[in-house]
Amino acid sequence: APAEGEVLQVDAVSMHFRGLKALQDVSLTVGAGEIRGIVGPNGSGKTTLFNVVSGLYRPTSGRVLLAGRDVTNARPHVLARLGVARTFQNLRLFRMLTVRDNLLVALDQTTILSNWRYALWPVGVWRHDRALRARAGELLDRFGLAAFAGSAPGELPYGTQRRVEIARAMARQPRLLLLDEPAAGLNGEEVRQLGEIVRSIRASGVTVVIIEHNMGLVMSLCERVTVLASGRVIADGSPAEVARAPQVVEAYLGD
Ligand code: ADP
Repeated sequence: APAEGEVLQVDAVSMHFRGLKALQDVSLTVGAGEIRGIVGPNGSGKTTLFNVVSGLYRPTSGRVLLAGRDVTNARPHVLARLGVARTFQNLRLFRMLTVRDNLLVALDQTTILSNWRYALWPVGVWRHDRALRARAGELLDRFGLAAFAGSAPGELPYGTQRRVEIARAMARQPRLLLLDEPAAGLNGEEVRQLGEIVRSIRASGVTVVIIEHNMGLVMSLCERVTVLASGRVIADGSPAEVARAPQVVEAYLGD
């Protein structure tokens, strides 16, 4: 039985692609209100883990539980409805829409986000709905995007585009937010702002799991870090604990 307060439980998950074992017997639990770091060398299975948790991949074996509920084979839109939101390593914003419209599309419960044809439909209901527009306004304010509401994402600095992506993930008020390398490509000031945003998201009651290579950011944000190497969990603990674990040092030597 899941312990009280556990938002995410990954239980002995393996993910094989033909011969390749991207995840092997991975278990971890993330408590409510945590900011959990996931670190590990390139190719260690971090994004695959997110893809399993967000329903893009069905694991070869093992289980995924969300607040105690088995969601192992749930489809991505079902997981979204159950409160799982994520960002991607490579930005996936609608480049032909403004920042505001990107948020409106995400806010509209009837939109299937992967269906960009719907999103680009000029008479889409989402564009004119008063309540949705009010909520988009709140998100724009909250994430410091009001000045860019009418801009196309591609015109904006990379750090701002990242904020749009996080705002979009937050549109449906998730309880679990998965961030895949949100600091990649950001400058120092943008990384600092990102840290503040992630802390404010946690303060609003959302549990966060963050894949990140920027160890300074991981150290400052996460009480606990899970380290993957070659698809296995090789360490789990405070950032200081895992940083001095011999198996972690060894895993990074070859990176
Ligand atoms: P990380 O995010 O830690 O860099 P990934 O999870 O992206 O690592 O990848 C782990 C391993 O799984 C890599 O060897 C990668 O090539 C492989 N992999 C990931 N997704 C697929 C897929 N859809 N098909 C085949 N191999 C994949």
